[in-house]
Amino acid sequence: MTPPEDADIRRAVPPVICYPNDTLPLANMSLYAEALEGADVISRHTAAPREACAFEVPAGHFFRITCAETPQVGDLNLWNAHDLTERFYSGKTRALHGSHVTTGDRLWSGFPYLRPMATIVADTLGWYGRDAFGGAVHDVIGTRCDPYTHQLLAGNDYHHCCHSNLTRALADARDLPLAEAEKHVHDVLNVFMCTGFTHDTGQYFMKASPVRKDDHLTFFAEIDLLGALSACPGGDCSAEHSSDTAICGPLLVEVMAPASGALAGWKSPVINGYDRSHGR
Ligand SMILES: [Zn+2]
Repeated sequence: MTPPEDADIRRAVPPVICYPNDTLPLANMSLYAEALEGADVISRHTAAPREACAFEVPAGHFFRITCAETPQVGDLNLWNAHDLTERFYSGKTRALHGSHVTTGDRLWSGFPYLRPMATIVADTLGWYGRDAFGGAVHDVIGTRCDPYTHQLLAGNDYHHCCHSNLTRALADARDLPLAEAEKHVHDVLNVFMCTGFTHDTGQYFMKASPVRKDDHLTFFAEIDLLGALSACPGGDCSAEHSSDTAICGPLLVEVMAPASGALAGWKSPVINGYDRSHGR
């Protein structure tokens, strides 16, 4: 195809940030950091390799995901513990904070709620930044590995994709039939996963996660949360997923309670203020 004469001029137009985020409600990060220092672990949960675990986190508590053994990525789902229709919205979180999240970024719920469900308060991989390939960690790009795409591409059934692991964990946590639980499973935060888009073809890529044993990512629960975390069958995602080929390890989830009085003045965020009349 012959490009127009002014092609270079058109390409040279500078980009504009879609959602300038300097008017977002700010998290009180110093309050959270102080509260985290005095917090005690109240429950522990383990996502076994190629399995998922569910856990509850009361509003005003913390939860920490730790790489417990071999380098391992995790797929995280979050719901309002009292209403599964309010769930993590990976796409809008990406639009607001960028393709990868770290300390200070928040995980937002979908419409009509659109409020922070959790705030990232500590990230031992915060040093990674963006590498020469355009890769970074903790993405909100990927959807989750799932048996449908695997069936489409490989022509066989695999039952330990993150989608199925999360479905089983939610079904067990809420005593739901699998078909009902599956409807609530959604696009994830890819914890510890190192991903980006190739510069030439724009294809989604993954590479060996820089995570090592004891690295962790810590969140503050802004509302009462039900979480589910899958230890992805891709392991460190250096080669392939949706199979039993990769070396996989467990992920640890610790729920922590702050000392009483540590969150003086903090309030759980209310749901979005839009009146929902949609112009009628
Ligand atoms: Zn996965």
